Amino acid sequence: MQIPGHIDPVVTPRTVPARADGRVDLVGLSKDQIRAELLAAGLDLKGAKLRAKQIWHWIYNRGATEFSTMTDIAKAQHPWLAERFVVGRPEVVEAQVSSDGTRKWLLRPIGAEDDSQDFEMVFIPDADRGTLCVSSQIGCTLNCRFCHTGTMRLVRNLTPSEIVGQVMLARDGLGEWPSQPDGRMLTNIVMMGMGEPLYNFENVRDALKIVMDGDGLALSKRRITLSTSGVVPMMARAGAEIGVNLAVSLHAVTKEVRDEIVPINRKYPLEDLLQACADYPGANNARRITFEYVMLKDKNDSDADAHELVRLIRKYKLPAKVNLIPFNPWEGAAYDTSTPEQVRRFSNIVFEAGISAPIRTPRGRDIDAACGQLKTSAERKSRAELDRLAEEKQAALG
Ligand code: SF4
Repeated sequence: MQIPGHIDPVVTPRTVPARADGRVDLVGLSKDQIRAELLAAGLDLKGAKLRAKQIWHWIYNRGATEFSTMTDIAKAQHPWLAERFVVGRPEVVEAQVSSDGTRKWLLRPIGAEDDSQDFEMVFIPDADRGTLCVSSQIGCTLNCRFCHTGTMRLVRNLTPSEIVGQVMLARDGLGEWPSQPDGRMLTNIVMMGMGEPLYNFENVRDALKIVMDGDGLALSKRRITLSTSGVVPMMARAGAEIGVNLAVSLHAVTKEVRDEIVPINRKYPLEDLLQACADYPGANNARRITFEYVMLKDKNDSDADAHELVRLIRKYKLPAKVNLIPFNPWEGAAYDTSTPEQVRRFSNIVFEAGISAPIRTPRGRDIDAACGQLKTSAERKSRAELDRLAEEKQAALG
């Protein structure tokens, strides 16, 4: 399948191989696709329509994973369905709970034979919300130098089933079935886990449409945020076709520093990125664009950097808020975390300019909750290996 916008720097498989047992996983299919699968399996149009509606309800409102529990479907049809279809979930390889309540899962796609395809999701509870950080790829083609996932090769894009499956698993783990609009723990989603979502645009879009469907999981687009490192050509399309909130991994305000720590900047420069933010459909003062800014000691954390950030936000008239993230160091990282005093100074300068710039408290430090850390805690690489991998990725980016 063609990568959207012809911009993916490497050719990657877009779909998982068919299930070894030949059955079709219904999670991640749209209502129309479920109906089409039922038709193709032999139901007549009326029957396929009715069953698709019932199955959708059981999957996304009740969390059912077995056809035998779908009590409004004739018992005699349960085995027929089970022979042809499955309501899948990624396998949980490891689940950790931090002392601060943050939960992290290491997941493996159905049918994967080893840990090479493992990926992660993280749930972060707060007083007023619960946010699930969802992965879009296994590994990443990019090599943001502060990011642990950036030290991994891209294995493949996650399928809609595997993206929706993360939300389903989290709901399972949180005991949130049957669906109810009020009192949920899982209230928000951020596409901010492993991978660059805009390099897996179609699968992310299809998955989020299922997550937003009012007859099912029904998460409002206002409660979903898609985070990009700056894939400029895809940003307008994301706004138009998905319409969720936008977050941008900014992390630097000069070409020199952003080229180093977010190397996609060499392909899509800062000015183009900020203009794409200014043009992002639906962004306004009520729906601000979030700029993620990891605080790296003596790299991007000076007072001058803070003033330049304010200048850029004003220049492009961006409805913006800035999340300041103290760096969560990992073995082999090339950077240190900024001092708390400098993070506060930076935050104050931006706040004084009238722009919200909260300092994010690191979560789940006792469980390696930063992106990509759980997966690779067993795969330590030397600095030389990390540099070589970064060079390879950069060459692929062009
Ligand atoms: S920050 Fe995101 S885009 Fe950059 S290397 Fe990490 S996972 Fe990839």
